[in-house]
Order: sequence, then C-alpha cells, then structure tokens
Amino acid sequence: MTSRRQFIQIVPFASAALLAGRTAFAADLPMVDEKDAQAAALGYVADAAKADKAKYKNFAAGQNCATCQLFTGQAGAASGPCKLFAGKQVTAKGWCSAWAKKA
Ligand code: SF4
Repeated sequence: MTSRRQFIQIVPFASAALLAGRTAFAADLPMVDEKDAQAAALGYVADAAKADKAKYKNFAAGQNCATCQLFTGQAGAASGPCKLFAGKQVTAKGWCSAWAKKA
C-alpha cells in the first residue's frame, strides 16, 4: 500500500514524465533535409522563397507548407509533420511541388 508520503514523492515525477512525453511528440521528429532523395525529387525547400520557380511553374506566391493540405502541424507552429514525409517534419514556410491548397 502506498503511504501518503510515498504518493506525494511519486506525483511530481509522474507528472513530469507525462509532460515530457507529450511535448516530445512532434518536436522530436527530425527535419526533412532538402538533399534527401524524396525531398529533392519533389523540389522541397525549407524556405518557399527559394523554390525553383523556373523548374516548378506551378509555384505561386503564398504557397507554403503551412497553407498545404498535407501539413499536419499546429496552426502557427514553425514546423510540423507532412503526410508525404512520414516520421519527419517540414518547416511551415517550406514548399514542395506536391503543394495542395488547404481545404
Ligand atoms: Fe510542404 Fe505540402 Fe510539400 Fe508537405 S506536401 S512538403 S506540407 S508543400
């Protein structure tokens, strides 16, 4: 049986572990590297301003990961996961040729 004193000693550690697990979720995912084969094939850039506009004629100002339907990061976050890059995250201001307007 857990005494009141033991309970009081356990609670702070349990709470900290729960919080750590929660904040580690998206923030711990590695960033997509522009040089990764898949990223390069899609023309991914961490900054949409650096998109290859000559190669990707479909690029238009205002397109970036934050406005893309495949971006699953939090609104206002600097980075987040993308459905095309499982287990990694992209920058909110990034872009690739698979950009699709968020519904
Ligand atoms: Fe960004 Fe969308 Fe391309 Fe993913 S699919 S990298 S969210 S533009």
